[in-house]
Amino acid sequence: MTASRRGDHPPGCGLHSATVPVPGPVPARRTPPVRTCVGCRTRAEADDLLRVVVVDGVLTPDPRRRFPGRGAWLHPDPECLHRAERRSAFPRALRVPGKLDTAEVRAHLHRAREGTSGVRDTPGSVIEESKVDPS
Ligand SMILES: [Zn+2]
Repeated sequence: MTASRRGDHPPGCGLHSATVPVPGPVPARRTPPVRTCVGCRTRAEADDLLRVVVVDGVLTPDPRRRFPGRGAWLHPDPECLHRAERRSAFPRALRVPGKLDTAEVRAHLHRAREGTSGVRDTPGSVIEESKVDPS
């Protein structure tokens, strides 16, 4: 009869060897959150982007990320702001109907560009410990 060929795969063929490389625990380097710039659609670390929120219908820069709710992320770059405006990316990202005035954000970018790192926005209500929605 035909010989069964079942027994003839060589021992230690490698497929079932125990030395499977295990991905292992992630080293204690925390990966920074990544967001997408609404202007150029490039992904970047959240630290490199400016968070923008809507407060009372006004587009407001939120560099300290303390406003709750939905935020849009933008490179602190007038070019990206310009692109976002053209594509009405802010209303879309923030789920706000209609156009949004980007004057505040533009002014913020101007200040940032001039090197005055002092962000002097002091909104009346300081929201502490609020979970920022990672939108
Ligand atoms: Zn950008």
